[in-house]
Amino acid sequence: MKILQNKHEMADALTSWKQQGLRIGVVPTMGNLHAGHLSLLKAISGKADKIITTIYVNPLQFAQGEDFDIYPRTHEADFEKLRAAGGCDAVFIPDQMYESGHATAISPAGVALGYEARTRPHFFGGVATIVLKLFQQTGADIAVFGEKDYQQLQVIRQMVRDLDLPVEIIASPTIREADGLAMSSRNGYLAPAERQIAPFLYQAMQDAAAEIRQGKEVETCLKKASDNILAAGFTEIDYLGYCDADSLAKRETHTQNGMLLAAVYLGNVRLIDQLKV
Ligand code: AMP
Repeated sequence: MKILQNKHEMADALTSWKQQGLRIGVVPTMGNLHAGHLSLLKAISGKADKIITTIYVNPLQFAQGEDFDIYPRTHEADFEKLRAAGGCDAVFIPDQMYESGHATAISPAGVALGYEARTRPHFFGGVATIVLKLFQQTGADIAVFGEKDYQQLQVIRQMVRDLDLPVEIIASPTIREADGLAMSSRNGYLAPAERQIAPFLYQAMQDAAAEIRQGKEVETCLKKASDNILAAGFTEIDYLGYCDADSLAKRETHTQNGMLLAAVYLGNVRLIDQLKV
């Protein structure tokens, strides 16, 4: 497994692969890898000739006061996990992505509005900009994203469509702990007592989904789930919404392509989750 530490090393590897006509698959991550990330690697293996995992904690998608400085950087352990998993030909781990004077950004609207963007308006512009740069630098022909960050997945699909990027996007399902909690690097911030409460988010979403499927009024189901989430010990609900899984437009009644999206706080820790209804 090659370790490529800047865009020049990446470009050298890419030149030789492209000369051989190889198809490049990319798994973008911020590192601190867990089984969710490794499932993306598995999902893309067999769909490309060379697979690159990227590790970069992107400052552009963190606002002042968010966890950029403390975000876990566990590079050696990440390399070990990738080696053990197999199927990763290279790790692209640039130390910087924005040269001095960088002044261009992607500004997504459409599916990038609402939900995450309500409290994190900077977020999807930062994500789209770094993902486009990573696609350019890695020569991605195909890339995989987790459904766990469902709105992000839709923002990337929209960008690829709108800007005619020659990259195939595939989605991979959310990997969960045994108790249902969606795996996330941010779960490591949870205190033991909070970790006990955390799985209840997914439980409440499953209960709401069952009621919506039975034809109950969506607003009533969401209100009940919100009350239950707060009663379980969560500090605040950022959003809990029911929408069309493609457009993310709000839906008031049960629909074929319905999806629940949630973000909640447990103390200072922000957890997100999603569930197809
Ligand atoms: P991150 O390192 O958190 O930016 O995530 C990198 C990629 O891994 C994104 O496409 C995420 O959606 C995906 N991912 C993170 N957690 C999970 C999970 N529990 N299951 C599946 N994919 C995940």
